[in-house]
Amino acid sequence: MSEALPPDAIREIVVVGGGTAGWMAASALVTLLPQGTRITLIESDEIGIVGVGEATIPPIRAFNRMVGIGEDEFLRAAQGTFKLGIEFVDWGEKGRRYFHPFGPHGQDLRGVDFHQLYLSAAKRREMPPIEQWSMSAVAAAQGRFARPDAAARLPFSQLDYAFHFDAGLYARFLRGIAEKRGVVRREGKITRWEQDGETGHVSSVTLASGEQIGGELFLDCSGFRGLLIEGALEAGYEEWTHWLPCDRAVAVPCALAGDPDPFTRSTARAAGWQWRIPLQHRIGNGIVYSSAHMSADEAAALLLASLDGEALAEPRQLSFTTGRRKLAWSGNVVALGLSSGFLEPLESTSIHLIQSGIQKLLALFPDRLFDPVERDEYNRQMQDVFEDVRDFIILHYKASRRDDSDFWRTCRDMAVPDSLAGKLALWDAKGRLFREGRELFGTASWVAVLLGQGITPAASEPIAAAPPADWVDDVLAQMHRSYAHFAGHMPTHGEFLRANFDARGSAQ
Ligand SMILES: Cc1cc2nc3c(=O)[nH]c(=O)nc-3n(C[C@H](O)[C@H](O)[C@H](O)COP(=O)(O)OP(=O)(O)OC[C@H]3O[C@@H](n4cnc5c(N)ncnc54)[C@H](O)[C@@H]3O)c2cc1C
Repeated sequence: MSEALPPDAIREIVVVGGGTAGWMAASALVTLLPQGTRITLIESDEIGIVGVGEATIPPIRAFNRMVGIGEDEFLRAAQGTFKLGIEFVDWGEKGRRYFHPFGPHGQDLRGVDFHQLYLSAAKRREMPPIEQWSMSAVAAAQGRFARPDAAARLPFSQLDYAFHFDAGLYARFLRGIAEKRGVVRREGKITRWEQDGETGHVSSVTLASGEQIGGELFLDCSGFRGLLIEGALEAGYEEWTHWLPCDRAVAVPCALAGDPDPFTRSTARAAGWQWRIPLQHRIGNGIVYSSAHMSADEAAALLLASLDGEALAEPRQLSFTTGRRKLAWSGNVVALGLSSGFLEPLESTSIHLIQSGIQKLLALFPDRLFDPVERDEYNRQMQDVFEDVRDFIILHYKASRRDDSDFWRTCRDMAVPDSLAGKLALWDAKGRLFREGRELFGTASWVAVLLGQGITPAASEPIAAAPPADWVDDVLAQMHRSYAHFAGHMPTHGEFLRANFDARGSAQ
């Protein structure tokens, strides 16, 4: 009841935008804030949504639990499939592939990281790729999937997963939840806003119809334009284009041929890379490219020539500037989603950054006094998470040994942020990796990309040589067998979808 709210509590929240960010924020806030907080969401049918965010990473399952979303219900509604990681093709060099799996590689032994034992074994003999010691990667390679439950034992319990889904259907699904729980939706285009003369806070927005909607806290989920965070509050944008030079994308869905793979594929191209995201009813495809190195027509032609099935729409061009909003929270406006910044979709992190922003906002939720301490802490934490993800994405470009185009030579030769240079130096010497603070990507992710792209350290950690070599080799061989054995007993991804979601697929 609203009477229960403290006098300074925020009672009116306006969410500007009804894309993935807007509806994720509205559904989370209406679920988790005390009753009596009114939430209005404004979206414009004329402007529409970007609608291309289709691949996620495992923390999205925590978002679903937080909002009380049933996994099966959501997968049915959004034509979702399971994702065990990303297959990278032609990244390290042309003709080579590797897999960045969700979940760990192997198991640590006697306090030594698994990847160190692997590196030290690789000094003694030829080793298969490290991904053969990952439950998710081995299942993905066989096109299989099963959902581990709480009682699952090693190594099956190491299988970690996320989802692919249709972004438009996902936003619609979240809208259904949010509206049922009390969020009020207004359709219309915001043409201006009003600000308090003293504080500069946004006090209301006005729609083209002339209707004025007031609020105490505004969530700017308006996409790349950053309607309030930049338009009203001029929060500033820090560009990262010198490290992440791709600035365009062209996207097109195509027909699904056969069962959907349980993984995203990213194929490096002459001036960028191509994504392939299999859903239950179609495949999402696109090329992310640098407009300085490839024209829009070339990118569209390349995309259309490399589809698995018939194109289901005209190719759609998008442009963006990689970077982050300098202040994601300014005054009484918090930017979430594309309005807070954009790192290209190489590791499917944008939806996660929305989730992370919502969780941090809830943890630092303001009242009408807007204590700057909360805002500053939020901005600091968002900066950290954006920079961590940025470094991991830059790694893929920097660690490439391709030199068959200007684009790749520029990437290979570029100077990287100090934070990444420090990490690479530790790796290059003895394969050391440390997860700092709340870094999103852990050791397994870094190892997958570094070894996958052929960046091998000069030596391994000295303590990796302590356990007897015969014993290590034996245990590694046992582990290797057990991953293959467990994967072999899983249903195929198509069988799993058909059994659980009545999904379409070639085998039906
Ligand atoms: C090429 C590409 C590929 C991507 N792939 C992935 C991926 O695989 N995984 C992933 O996690 N993320 C991905 N993303 C990012 C993902 O698409 C976005 O993070 C996500 O869709 C959130 O977008 P949004 O809600 O911030 O913005 P949008 O979808 O653009 O929504 C903006 C909303 O604001 C409204 N709006 C704007 N201006 C006004 C106005 N004046 N008045 C009223 N309403 C207004 C619009 O109508 C719309 O409802 C990708 C992005 C791109 C560009």
